[in-house]
Amino acid sequence: MNIHEYQAKAILRAYGAPVSDGRVVLKAEEAKTAAGELDGPLWVVKAQIHAGGRGKGHFKEAEAGEKGGVRLARSVEEAEAHAKQMLGRTLVTVQTGPAGKQVNRIYIEDGSDIARELYLALLIDRKTSRISFVASTEGGMSIEDVAHDTPEKILTFTIDPATGLSDFHGRRVAFALGLEGNQVKQCVALVKTLYKAFVEKDMEMLEINPLIVTPDGNLKCLDAKMGFDGNAIYRHADIAALRDETEEDPKELAASKFDLNYIALDGEIGCMVNGAGLAMATMDIIKLYGAEPANFLDVGGGATKEKVTEAFKIITSDPNVKGILVNIFGGIMRCDVIAEGVIAAVKEVGLTVPLVVRLEGTNVELGKEIINKSGLNVIAGDNLADAAQKIVKAVKG
Ligand code: ADP
Ligand code: MG
Repeated sequence: MNIHEYQAKAILRAYGAPVSDGRVVLKAEEAKTAAGELDGPLWVVKAQIHAGGRGKGHFKEAEAGEKGGVRLARSVEEAEAHAKQMLGRTLVTVQTGPAGKQVNRIYIEDGSDIARELYLALLIDRKTSRISFVASTEGGMSIEDVAHDTPEKILTFTIDPATGLSDFHGRRVAFALGLEGNQVKQCVALVKTLYKAFVEKDMEMLEINPLIVTPDGNLKCLDAKMGFDGNAIYRHADIAALRDETEEDPKELAASKFDLNYIALDGEIGCMVNGAGLAMATMDIIKLYGAEPANFLDVGGGATKEKVTEAFKIITSDPNVKGILVNIFGGIMRCDVIAEGVIAAVKEVGLTVPLVVRLEGTNVELGKEIINKSGLNVIAGDNLADAAQKIVKAVKG
């Protein structure tokens, strides 16, 4: 689960990390008052969307020369004008994809003078199952580009959970960032603070880009991107409350309400599968036969008819779906329940694309009978390979 920059900064502030003072506004009329509460004489007006690259992004239907999603203002009136211009518009950045994201919140914060822009991030390194630090002198740009063009400018190391974080980790970051004197001390403290927040809040990633050095030699977190482990959200009511559902894929949101493991993808074949392993295998075999899956969907072991119906509705609501493959191994899940769910869903939402169903396991005969008797135009698959070939053929011809 991701949160907005202003929310991430509030968490950092609570942990004692250096961030600027700022105010969030939802309406343009609030902008002037909000800006007036800050010191000035420089303000920065920042579009809040769950994507980076806002500064270099552009709004849809932008006027010639119009700025992106991070803008400087030299008066409260100018801050208000920027907020007014951005709210409700769609901002396109390298991270949003061409569709962009609608801006519904604006963060107005104190403008900082910048001597240097650095990069610092913490994330879970899956290879070592440890928290890893990533630091670079090349702040303010995408770390993917730095990794590609000048990998030698990136320092990464992981923290052994048994011994934890020590001051020397902070010094290692400081030296990699070319910090000196008092800045080293500030960096050691910041590294500790970020690590503590990361662990305590069950974060998945925490990216400060840029971390700046001000002309008077102080460190400040100028941007903050925070992601949390979805499986740990249940123990952080404060974090759960920060969820902004308008930022999420509506299909994934609907799926989460029904406790379905669903991830939207770019392909054309919708998949309904039980078990994560079988779902992965199904996606693989669709690719093997020359098509792309439109989603990952694991309906789980003990899915009810309602859950299956909901899953089917989510798949058919995706305009990219040109065919559906239902692939169920009935272990705990019974094939007849799946069959009833599919039929109930088709009755409710209709079926305009080819549907291949492969059932195996508990109550398979009953399941097949239910589908055969339904009068639905369903193509039966005998096994995984057969079913995949049939749906690919039905879609691609
Ligand atoms: P994004 O990464 O989405 O483009 P950032 O918050 O990193 O958004 O802002 C982009 C750039 O704008 C930063 O690299 C920095 O140069 C500038 N910037 C952001 N916030 C401030 C601020 N409070 N004061 C001065 N400059 C800022
Ligand atoms: Mg940034």
